Amino acid sequence: MDIHASDILVAGGGIAGLAAALALSRRGADVQLIEQADAFSEVGAGIQIGPNVTRILRDWGLEAGLRQLASFPHELIARDARSGRELGSLPLGERAERLYGAPYACIHRADLHQLLLHAVQARDVPLHLNQRLAEVHLQEGRVTVRTEQGLARQPALLVGADGLWSRSRQALGLNEPPRFSGHLAYRGLIPSPTPAAQLQVTVWMGPRLHIVQYPVQAGRALNVVAIVHGELPVNPEGWDHAAHAAHLFQALGPICRPLQQTLEAVPRWRLWALNDRPPLTSARQMGQGTVALLGDAAHPMRPYLAQGAGMAIEDAQALAQCWVEKGTVAERVQRYAEQRWPRNAQVQARAIRNGRIFHAHGPISWGRNLAMGVLGAKVMDVPWLYKGMDFPSGRE
Ligand SMILES: Cc1cc2nc3c(=O)[nH]c(=O)nc-3n(C[C@H](O)[C@H](O)[C@H](O)COP(=O)(O)OP(=O)(O)OC[C@H]3O[C@@H](n4cnc5c(N)ncnc54)[C@H](O)[C@@H]3O)c2cc1C
Repeated sequence: MDIHASDILVAGGGIAGLAAALALSRRGADVQLIEQADAFSEVGAGIQIGPNVTRILRDWGLEAGLRQLASFPHELIARDARSGRELGSLPLGERAERLYGAPYACIHRADLHQLLLHAVQARDVPLHLNQRLAEVHLQEGRVTVRTEQGLARQPALLVGADGLWSRSRQALGLNEPPRFSGHLAYRGLIPSPTPAAQLQVTVWMGPRLHIVQYPVQAGRALNVVAIVHGELPVNPEGWDHAAHAAHLFQALGPICRPLQQTLEAVPRWRLWALNDRPPLTSARQMGQGTVALLGDAAHPMRPYLAQGAGMAIEDAQALAQCWVEKGTVAERVQRYAEQRWPRNAQVQARAIRNGRIFHAHGPISWGRNLAMGVLGAKVMDVPWLYKGMDFPSGRE
């Protein structure tokens, strides 16, 4: 493995790392990527991607692949988890295209990961498996990386896309571990959903819980995520845990029959402990000198705005745009960091707030229900987010 001083080194081959490798290589940069695992893979679960993200994938020439792999729901419906009552709805489908110029999609993570991987491979970006970043130092503007396997290099730029437990962060003096949110996510897939379920994202809300269901795999499966409050499982660094439906139902308490039936149809649950970091407060948390952080390495967030991977993809697009601008590497990294931190911070904060609203009880939940019923799309839509990062005035 030969990494030249002019090369960009991406650490991490998840959605953020592959997106960065693709975006930078499309802009003519010499990029190489290292991944600690011995194969590129994604743990099975779905993700939603808003128009701010599908617009970028379209720009990268991935729309045809997305059309084959993803589902494109027509509406988002919010329901009360206990009574089953509809609380409000937001049209997606044609409305998202009309207002935001790109579709709202739901996709299996593995499908999105493969889509990006194939695009990166098609550009002949060198991908090195079994290389685990062990040490990173940033001194006098130069970054030095060492892997556990003995590789030692000084790339022109290190792109730290090594996820929640990022090593790359240490080069920026960021040594605080992520924090456990107190929330657990149970995730599962139901094969062959009904035609109606193939067209909707449904969010069921209740005290200290919410459940989201949406179609993936071009409608061939329904992804279900149930979030409850709970204790940190043993081994918090583990990516996921075998979990039992019985534990989930106990944590949920009373729920309406249709929701119960949906959850009972999940053949196998996996359990995630949800970790995040407080919203970013400065550009230096996203990049300094010749190190830029992307995705969960920089801003792990609660999934209640469905934008963790989305922000990683926006980061990648922004970094590639800055890379072709004038200036030293450090100046371009600085521009990237300044551009990205306020938006990521805003999304992190909004995700935390959504969690409080989804899980509310008593008067707050009554106010929520009233607002969704009366104002519908006005409170459920997120124009500042979906308009995308090219709309700097699109703030809340
Ligand atoms: C329950 C749940 C639901 C979600 N729903 C959505 C959603 O609907 N929409 C959305 O946009 N996002 C969603 N997300 C968030 C999204 O999944 C993440 O934000 C995104 O996958 C992060 O990608 P990443 O590449 O930054 O990190 P990761 O996926 O963690 O990838 C990091 C990669 O780096 C590698 N790596 C780590 N350390 C090293 C090292 N030292 N050396 C080399 N390689 C290393 C890892 O092996 C891995 O391949 C959800 C998350 C959860 C938990």
